[in-house]
Amino acid sequence: MRDPEPTAVDYHVHLDLFRDYKSQFETCAKNGIATLAVTTTPRAWETNKCLAAESNFVRAALGFHPQLVAEIQGDFPLFEKLIHKTRFIGEVGLDASPRYYRSFEKQKQVFTQILKLCAESRGKILSVHCVRAGHQLLDMIEEHLPRNLGRVVLHWFSGTAAEAKRAVALGCHFSINREMFKNPDRHGLIAALPHERVLTETDGPFTAMGGRPAAPSDVTTVIPLIAQVWRLPESVVATQIKKNLMALEDEQVT
Ligand code: MN
Repeated sequence: MRDPEPTAVDYHVHLDLFRDYKSQFETCAKNGIATLAVTTTPRAWETNKCLAAESNFVRAALGFHPQLVAEIQGDFPLFEKLIHKTRFIGEVGLDASPRYYRSFEKQKQVFTQILKLCAESRGKILSVHCVRAGHQLLDMIEEHLPRNLGRVVLHWFSGTAAEAKRAVALGCHFSINREMFKNPDRHGLIAALPHERVLTETDGPFTAMGGRPAAPSDVTTVIPLIAQVWRLPESVVATQIKKNLMALEDEQVT
């Protein structure tokens, strides 16, 4: 439970990859932005954890980025060791785009292991990357991490409407960023998501905002975009997103 209530939610951001990363952590804390600080390698987690510990609003997630699997394979024992120290896992997942396809088999092995470890320790929340691999990813979640054992938040979802529907049935959440609205063809998919499963994110510094990297304080600019496709007032959407976050993190795992 976060106390007091957050002002906004950035549920996927790489705070440690900003040049001024320390002040990014401070801003999230000061402004009450509920932040999931994801990491790309388990080696980064301890530092993130220390910086996050200063705030009730920032969580440090333990990551193993699918795009780096080939280079950081040797760090998996560290991931296994640290997984017991945190409830938050990410960025993890699958990337079958041409640039990373060479490591796809290895990515599948690693992601399977991660899902199994999460299922064993129960109650984890995962921020999951998925590019061109929706079908395989959802098969793996269905097999290894049933919804009573953990929660998956699909970050920057780029799959089909059918995959979105299946992800909803499997209990997944979706963290939505500004970039996802650039293609009007995607608006229908966002409109069809169950409102109680939606969170917001920036994925900063990998997205831009007015010519600079998007930071957590920019996350409120996603609200009007969601409000437009949901045909709801912005205040209703903002309240819904905060409620969703609190419900997700307060959930008791049986
Ligand atoms: Mn990311």
